[in-house]
Amino acid sequence: MAVHGYGKILEVDLSTREIRQREIAAEFARAYIGGMGFGCRILYQDTRPELDPLGPKNVVIFANGALTGTGAPCAGRTEITTKSPLTGSTSTGNTGGLWGARLKHAGFDLIVTRNSSEKPVYLWIDDAAVELRDASHLWGKDTQETSEILQHELCPSSPSKISVLCIGPAGENLVRYACPVNDYHHVAGRGGAGAVMGAKRLKAIALRGTGTVETARPEESREATREARQRILDAKMADRMPGGPVDARKEYLERGCLPARNYQTGVLSQFIETRGVEVARRYVVRQEATCHACPISCFNLVELKEGKYSGLKVNRGIAPGPVIEWGAINSTCLKTLRREYTMVCLPRRFQRAGKENRRSASGLKTCTRPSTAWGSASFR
Ligand code: SF4
Repeated sequence: MAVHGYGKILEVDLSTREIRQREIAAEFARAYIGGMGFGCRILYQDTRPELDPLGPKNVVIFANGALTGTGAPCAGRTEITTKSPLTGSTSTGNTGGLWGARLKHAGFDLIVTRNSSEKPVYLWIDDAAVELRDASHLWGKDTQETSEILQHELCPSSPSKISVLCIGPAGENLVRYACPVNDYHHVAGRGGAGAVMGAKRLKAIALRGTGTVETARPEESREATREARQRILDAKMADRMPGGPVDARKEYLERGCLPARNYQTGVLSQFIETRGVEVARRYVVRQEATCHACPISCFNLVELKEGKYSGLKVNRGIAPGPVIEWGAINSTCLKTLRREYTMVCLPRRFQRAGKENRRSASGLKTCTRPSTAWGSASFR
């Protein structure tokens, strides 16, 4: 028996190209609720400890939270779970934007992808109509290009109605910490789900969802949503973060708990002068692409206005200034914290390693953009 309000499960066999839709069973929903619970349960059931994370038998599970797409504040997120090629253990990472809400509006809460395709493919979900399509023309393209091409191909008259989750060259080339990226700027870090998608030759999942979500008691649900939203606003969370997460970091600094230099230190000299909110505001071009129904809207689109990366647009004002350069590799489907780890580790741990070892340790040798190559300006 299905549970009221939950979307269906979409099971996709990339090898046979068989696609199955079925209801989420009530006992499963009650026991595991959604998101990470759904993902971990299915991963546990479908995989074995000895399984190669980059082999065809690994699974990638995309699972909405129980409230995703309902309008509940801060709940518009999706968990991506797989066996990590980086750690060999469970990898879960969640992402925001509109992709999860639109998956729900298309009538689904869960996608389970199994086996591998011989050729690059993408999954196209157009409400209840679902099909696998050839993605040869997208292979090698970065996440921004892939998203733009698919949006215009699938809905030329209104491309923004399409949400695309995809991988870039890092995932295609099995960089073990590559991440799927959706709605251009939202990233599901960090255990390498992008590499697993690359191994399966699943380039993207594009979707359009035009339905609505039915809740069991609409009046009470609306009232609870309104109250939760108001409580967030009254707590001044949104007020405290007009510059995005940068604003919160001032408080981290005052408490000595900045996650600086990959958690090596809690304080940084000249942090406010070089990475504070005033510096961030110089770069913020507009606040947009926030997660579905979130009143905090911590998401900022930042544009570099000067220097060699002038014109580059990066998500959030995490650290404008020197670190913004790292946005240049975001579209290959890597993620900031891994980059920061790399920045910290490479000079230290691999100082004595030969050139080839350094390259493979960084995992960046497969990236196609000059700025990501070992020894390039970004590493100095
Ligand atoms: S906009 Fe920011 S605060 Fe709101 S759900 Fe997304 S990441 Fe969280």
